[in-house]
Amino acid sequence: MIILGERCIVIRFLDRNLKRRKFVCIMKWSDVVGHTETKARLIKAVNEGRIPHAQLILGKEGSGNLPLARAYIQYVLCTNRTENDSCGVCASCSKVSQMSHPDVHFAFPVISKSSSEPATSSEKMTEFRKAMLADPYMSYAQWVEFVSKETKMAIINTKQCDEIAQMLRLKPYEANYKFMVIWLPEVIHHSAAPKLLKIIEEPPAHTIFLLVSHNDEQILSTIKSRTQLIRLKQIPDFEMMEGLMSRLRIPLDKAREIINIADGNFTLALELAEYNEDQEQNLSWFIEWVKACYLLDITMLMNLSNTLHDLRKDKQKSFFVFTLHIMREALVLHFNKDLLRSTEKEFNFIMKLSNVVHEQNIDKLTDLINQAIYSIDRNASFKMLFMHLSLEFFSLMKARQPEANV
Ligand SMILES: [Zn+2]
Repeated sequence: MIILGERCIVIRFLDRNLKRRKFVCIMKWSDVVGHTETKARLIKAVNEGRIPHAQLILGKEGSGNLPLARAYIQYVLCTNRTENDSCGVCASCSKVSQMSHPDVHFAFPVISKSSSEPATSSEKMTEFRKAMLADPYMSYAQWVEFVSKETKMAIINTKQCDEIAQMLRLKPYEANYKFMVIWLPEVIHHSAAPKLLKIIEEPPAHTIFLLVSHNDEQILSTIKSRTQLIRLKQIPDFEMMEGLMSRLRIPLDKAREIINIADGNFTLALELAEYNEDQEQNLSWFIEWVKACYLLDITMLMNLSNTLHDLRKDKQKSFFVFTLHIMREALVLHFNKDLLRSTEKEFNFIMKLSNVVHEQNIDKLTDLINQAIYSIDRNASFKMLFMHLSLEFFSLMKARQPEANV
């Protein structure tokens, strides 16, 4: 079945070398965005001493099921927890939040050099920890991008399952329990799945399994039947808004735009929030793109396509989000220019763009760009995607007001 398809966030700053988000991670319940009912249920169960030996935390990508699993572990292991949350400062909390607790183990998809040299979770733990501490809401695609420049598939292999069994044979070092977090059990190799099943069927004493999945249809039903299911609902928009605004200090109007696109995916919302940092460059590319589309200048389009193709995926997405923002501003200009929130340079362009972006084509334009944003994560060919979009733009812009001069 190969498969496929903290306060955590108190302070945000750019690591100028890595160009990635960085968060201060504490990993209390209060640091996990949304899921109020689920958190309350889990807290109650822990306080009543009901800790199942295997739980499957199921939620769509961006639901934050891995941060939730980490907050759960921190709460169980906290030596000074309250009725509602872990303390965040005891030695145990500190180790759990830094992913360095000796009784908390992780298994996660890895990329091996070859099938004869399978990598293990312990070999890749330093990278995984670094990536997860920088962004607790990291997606599978972001993890693969973090560890490999090429488009490769990461899986959980047989050797990793042997390693899980080996790790769990040892007694807990410090705590009463040992935790084994299996991130994305849906990407376990078919030859490894029976081994995992055996481990979960005959769990070593004091072991708690947390399987953190986006797609339970790809998990063996025999594995699922031995776990208690925790199904996460989509994070409501107002909690996504609160999450972005309080943690990343995003202004209300920008947060609203991001939430509309992210559709309950907080990982995507965080990624999109970064676009603020590239506005000037994005504006320059967008001006060039609109001109090239309007004139149907294939050479210009090819050159721009090559430039954007070479960007990281998150930068490509941020460019498209920026174009959405400017197009919406162009539409607003038709109704009330006082509502615009743009720089002078942006405003000059928006004035021209409003000749070709209007009520009749804005929905279609917006749909096309939203689809492009999602397609980038699904490893679509960027150049084909961009040319397709450009041709659609050309026809949508020309459909009305042919006299417009961009
Ligand atoms: Zn604590």
